[in-house]
Amino acid sequence: AALSKWLADFRAASPRRLRVAVIGGGLAGLSSGKYLSDAGHLPIVLEARDVLGGKVSAWRDADGDWVETGLHIFFGAYPNMMNLFQELGIEDRLQWKEHSMVFARPDRPGEFSRFDFPSWLPAPLNAFWAIAWNSDMLTWPEKIKFGLALVPMLLAGQKYIEAQDELSVKEWMRRNGVPDRVNDEIFIAMAKALDFIDPDKLSMTVVLTAINRFVNETNGSRMAFLDGNQPDRLCAPLKSHIEARGGEVRVGQRVQRIVLRPDGSVDHLRLVDGQRVEADVYVSAMPVDVVKLLLPGEWKAMPYFQQLQNLEGIPVINLQLWFDRKLRCENQLMFSRSPLLSVYADMSRTCREYYDPNRSMLELVFAPCSPVAGADRDWIAQTDEEIVAATMGELARVFPDEIAADGSKARLLKAAVVRTPRSVYAAVVGRNKYRPRQATPVPNFVLAGDYTMQRFLGSMEGAVLSGKLAAETVCRKLLAN
Ligand code: FAD
Repeated sequence: AALSKWLADFRAASPRRLRVAVIGGGLAGLSSGKYLSDAGHLPIVLEARDVLGGKVSAWRDADGDWVETGLHIFFGAYPNMMNLFQELGIEDRLQWKEHSMVFARPDRPGEFSRFDFPSWLPAPLNAFWAIAWNSDMLTWPEKIKFGLALVPMLLAGQKYIEAQDELSVKEWMRRNGVPDRVNDEIFIAMAKALDFIDPDKLSMTVVLTAINRFVNETNGSRMAFLDGNQPDRLCAPLKSHIEARGGEVRVGQRVQRIVLRPDGSVDHLRLVDGQRVEADVYVSAMPVDVVKLLLPGEWKAMPYFQQLQNLEGIPVINLQLWFDRKLRCENQLMFSRSPLLSVYADMSRTCREYYDPNRSMLELVFAPCSPVAGADRDWIAQTDEEIVAATMGELARVFPDEIAADGSKARLLKAAVVRTPRSVYAAVVGRNKYRPRQATPVPNFVLAGDYTMQRFLGSMEGAVLSGKLAAETVCRKLLAN
């Protein structure tokens, strides 16, 4: 909130309005455009595709149903995202659910285990209560051993959390005397939900970052769903906000080259269709894998840009399955605890726009889905039919009374499979130190994107914060000159 105010005050204080070209119309690019326009500048957001949102983009299929790039959950512990919703006046678009975490029980197919956070207790007591009252998943000795292992984090905070980046979740558990069962019962599901990879690969910093927010903020782990498709309900208000302040948001504008001046700073952008875009400052809000490809040769030897070679997006698949009947799902995000699947939700219950009283539409994250992330095969390269068949097999285990892999129970009406071969940066062991700050060594070039350095890892919150920090960087550079 303080940074939002600083940026808005900058508008009144600054004599100069800069023209800023923002490359990428995902959340980081749109957030950067929003805060630059709040600070009085003129952003031009250039999105390559014909839809805004990047990893939160969606489009309609032939029947008019929305197909999403990913199932997206908003946490109470997303302060910048919550501010953004308030600043845009769209807080009522978040549909908050009961404060619970619901896990499927592979030992008892068809049953679920809940961690309920009571609303009358503040943090961290509500988290301790939720863990104490759940007796399905962990024994008391396991809970105590895990609780003791968290003491250094509770005492030392962020410094301790960042130092754990050299350990995987599984290694950290073993070193701290936490039984493997805690990893198997809880953290396989958590790791897959947080970064689409298994806990023997995921950095412990990621899990501790989430736990730290969840135990310190009363509503930190409370979850909300957007009330409809992301382009209309979230990206469109951002676009309107930018345009109302004189900025522009253009789709179908793929940047092909960053053209430099003799001194190594950016002269202009060359788009695929031959257009040339000139600005005072340039913000890249592209995913790290694309940035690496577009870096001008002159910059490649700089250590700041070289570190990007250590970052890479992780593959993930999102599925939507439309059934002919209503399944017995909760109005919640569910952790599937199945080898192939991560989290899922019945969007016909959780999301107002997709509401259907008679039929369920499950949206599921299929992860890990490549050997790098821990999968037994490269699922991303399989056909839609193979991916849907494998998912139905897993769902038959989770809902044995309602779904059969051969389709003899609930009938699958249609399916949508969206592959993202390079999604959020893979937060495997030892990567945090390579995440770049938003200010680059090039005077008129700034980075935004969920992979850039900020406290919220690869997430919507991280993307929004990175855009805001990029806007702040532009303003501070102007003040310094
Ligand atoms: P992106 O969204 O990737 O945006 C980059 C944009 O740059 C894209 O629109 C792209 O088209 C554009 N671009 C690329 N190249 C060019 C070019 N040459 N010229 C112009 N434009 C270009 N996060 C959560 O917080 N909660 C969740 O529940 C959650 N679930 C997820 C589920 C899935 C399946 C996926 C894939 C992600 C999920 N995330 C979740 C992560 C979240 O979506 C991302 O962290 C966030 O949206 C990233 O935003 P970004 O702007 O940094 O990158």
